[in-house]
Amino acid sequence: MIQAERETVERIKEAAGRQIWVTFRKEGIHCYPAAATDPKLNTSDEYNVAFLANPHRHIFHFRVSIDVWHNDRDIEFIQFKRWLEALYSGANTVLALDYKSCEMIADDLYVQIAARYPNRCVIIEVSEDGENGCSISYNLTRPNNSIVI
Ligand SMILES: [Zn+2]
Repeated sequence: MIQAERETVERIKEAAGRQIWVTFRKEGIHCYPAAATDPKLNTSDEYNVAFLANPHRHIFHFRVSIDVWHNDRDIEFIQFKRWLEALYSGANTVLALDYKSCEMIADDLYVQIAARYPNRCVIIEVSEDGENGCSISYNLTRPNNSIVI
């Protein structure tokens, strides 16, 4: 590698976006009452999902990515994971899963993360049993430009 290439590699490394991610799972009871009455959901064909109106159990799978500023445990994985899990259970429960969509669960979780770790991009994925879910990117700037939100 010539010197100019080495310098380019160093610049790219310096400016790299760095995130860590953790995963965890939580049990929740889901219920979507509108599914029983909304004609877009309660259909008479193979797209009928009226059963979603009944309470049903999921294991919600989470994957949370967050910016870190350096490579040496800026946010330690296990501590971060334990803190996230504690938001849903125990003496300091602040978040509920039941009856919310995956997107609502992600937004609620983001508010808690942003309060503890401000000014970091966060990506939250929440799925029902690892099958279907959402991925929401909470960016400090709008995608594809540099306008600060
Ligand atoms: Zn469900």
